[in-house]
Amino acid sequence: MIYSYCKRCRMESPGDVCSGCGKRATAALQRDKWSIATIPLADSRAWRASCLALLGAAALLLAAVFGLEAVYGGPARVTLLWKSALIRVTLAFAVVGLAVVFLFLLIQGRETNVFTLDSQGAHQHTWHSPRKWKSWARLQSADPNKDFPQQDGSVMHLSQERHMLWQDVLSVKYRPARSVILLYHTPHCAPMALRLPAGEYDLAAAYVGKYCKGK
Ligand SMILES: [Zn+2]
Repeated sequence: MIYSYCKRCRMESPGDVCSGCGKRATAALQRDKWSIATIPLADSRAWRASCLALLGAAALLLAAVFGLEAVYGGPARVTLLWKSALIRVTLAFAVVGLAVVFLFLLIQGRETNVFTLDSQGAHQHTWHSPRKWKSWARLQSADPNKDFPQQDGSVMHLSQERHMLWQDVLSVKYRPARSVILLYHTPHCAPMALRLPAGEYDLAAAYVGKYCKGK
């Protein structure tokens, strides 16, 4: 949803017209802001990254052990190793690792992402309820200085914030079917994912398009 800041009234109002003086805000003073609740456990990208990391580590370890045996032990030792429990044990560790990932994601619970697009760039603030174990499950310290009172009277913990300037955006991928816009500052990896409630997609896509023409 668009909010605009009026310099004269020093306040922000919904829409592009100031509710104090009725003046229309210039494009530079208009921000698109929305929030969306997500559950890390249900995030397929978190799972894919964890699976790749764990299976990749297991494969590397096996390749290294078999490689060393092939070089220094000879074919007989490799056959012996193949028959041993090594592969099963390594895969079992990978499965245990996935179970631990599941537990951590489960404890992370629910989080709220607040996205703001302004004339500078895109900003993401991730919040969750101020429970120590929720911070620990994100491998973060439960810093009480990051607990902030909210407008509705509750207190939320600022887990992380991320900012990407429009000038740093290399490419944009629009995914209306999944209601997400991906902003890349490096080729192909670590995009900032602007997740949107379905009704907010078109507005955000138009806003991003305005500052990322041809990207
Ligand atoms: Zn005003």
